Amino acid sequence: MLELAMTIGGEQRRGGSTFTSVDPYTGEPWASAPEATEADVRDAVAAANAAFTGGWGALTGRERRDLIRALGRVFAEHVDELAEAETRDNGKLLREMKGQVKALPEFYEYYAGLADKIDGRVVDTGKREFFGFVAKEAAGVVGAVLPWNSPLLLLTFKLAPALAAGCTVVAKPSEHAPSAVLRLGSLLAEAGLPPGTVNTVSGSRREVGEWLVGDPRLAHVSFTGSEVTGVAVARSAVSNFTPVTLELGGKSANIVFEDADLAAAANGVIAGIFAAAGQTCIAGSRALVHQSVYDELVERVVARARTIKLGNPLDGATEMGPICFRGQWEKVQHYVRLAQKEGGEIVTGGSDGGRGGLFFEPTVVTGLPNSSAVAQEEIFGPVLTVIPFSDTDEAVEIANDTQYGLAAGIWTRDVNRALGVSRRLRAGTVWVNSYRTLNYSMPFGGRGHSGIGRENGLEGLSDFLVDKAVWIETAGATRDPFVLG
Ligand code: NAD
Repeated sequence: MLELAMTIGGEQRRGGSTFTSVDPYTGEPWASAPEATEADVRDAVAAANAAFTGGWGALTGRERRDLIRALGRVFAEHVDELAEAETRDNGKLLREMKGQVKALPEFYEYYAGLADKIDGRVVDTGKREFFGFVAKEAAGVVGAVLPWNSPLLLLTFKLAPALAAGCTVVAKPSEHAPSAVLRLGSLLAEAGLPPGTVNTVSGSRREVGEWLVGDPRLAHVSFTGSEVTGVAVARSAVSNFTPVTLELGGKSANIVFEDADLAAAANGVIAGIFAAAGQTCIAGSRALVHQSVYDELVERVVARARTIKLGNPLDGATEMGPICFRGQWEKVQHYVRLAQKEGGEIVTGGSDGGRGGLFFEPTVVTGLPNSSAVAQEEIFGPVLTVIPFSDTDEAVEIANDTQYGLAAGIWTRDVNRALGVSRRLRAGTVWVNSYRTLNYSMPFGGRGHSGIGRENGLEGLSDFLVDKAVWIETAGATRDPFVLG
């Protein structure tokens, strides 16, 4: 069994008790991680605070740039080990996790490049005798709380810009997937980051996250996870006036118009919902299809869904691994039963297909309106709801008829329609003739119940910076103390 430790102030801390991470494919515990106490969390924040006011906080942008680059190289040098830890924790395909970890150095390279370009501006104060400027300052200590589906990618969305801005970080991985993040913590020394710059705390109890986000010394909380937890996190943070970034769930629409390349669209629908067994915030869990191509599109998607190879996620030929943990599997099953109860037709899938364990077959549901629970609520599993539409207005109306607003796909050969519809969609990301494409340079985040704020791109820096307005009196004049101005 792999024994993991937290990283606090540059030291490895195992603590007293531990919890285990269960490999969803084998059903066996494979790693043990420390169960943090409240004192451990306090120590981690104290270490990050000390690094902010000392080590990391004292560096120039140029010095941070070089160390962030070095951190990127740590990922590159440990791709296999880190990716395998993710797969063994969450059951997602090793080739997907490897692809993600391999891409991470580029995120660090991008934000390293910004670390020495954080300029303020000189402002026309409107007053002859005053010189004024706005400084961009690092916010302080960031609490980063992570979900289980892509731990290192989602950590990186927060860590790379936070470090570029000059912040220090305490990261808490999910209780279902702690291994890769804890292991990364133990490798930080290789990058030469000052102790306390990045700290990790773990635990199986929700209190560990609560202790972290409720710590009044945090300058920012960056959370990725479910909507319900996001609200609890925001409430706790705001009671200390700590700002939050929330990256939450989705119920994204993949809209297939009558002029679409149907082979490409079917492939995009498959990628949207069955990649990662649907356990992705950007899952295209609703396919909206023009009525004239509805039958053909459903036929294509169902045919491909039936050939998806379920199996060991470490095996290069596998296309879908198991669901991450029992509670999540039961949630998927609950929604399939609900779909049947509400009168939906399960065209394919709907169960483990006799495989046992935590497998769930790619599932396609038809015959339900957009108002049904399966079309409105995030399932976070391989369940696609297909809904027909008759014209563009109706497609946009259905796509936007959700409390979420994370992503959407548009499949059409008509550029005017692509642009027009993308403008009308209430979503943080819109893909045209593609789905599930990401890069460090493009801002990512949601609207509505999908969250607050943006990660990645130039926009991803702003949550970790605070503006300071500095007024300098240059005339040596004495002013009327009772008049504002
Ligand atoms: P979750 O909300 O159950 O847990 C997320 C994290 O919050 C975990 O580390 C958990 O321990 C911690 N936590 C739980 N209660 C807490 C509390 N009261 N205070 C502080 N921390 C607490 O989410 P999950 O099941 O791990 O992840 C799946 C969800 O994440 C889905 O809804 C998915 O859509 C969302 N997600 C969003 C994005 C995005 O970028 N928008 C990306 C990936 C996943």
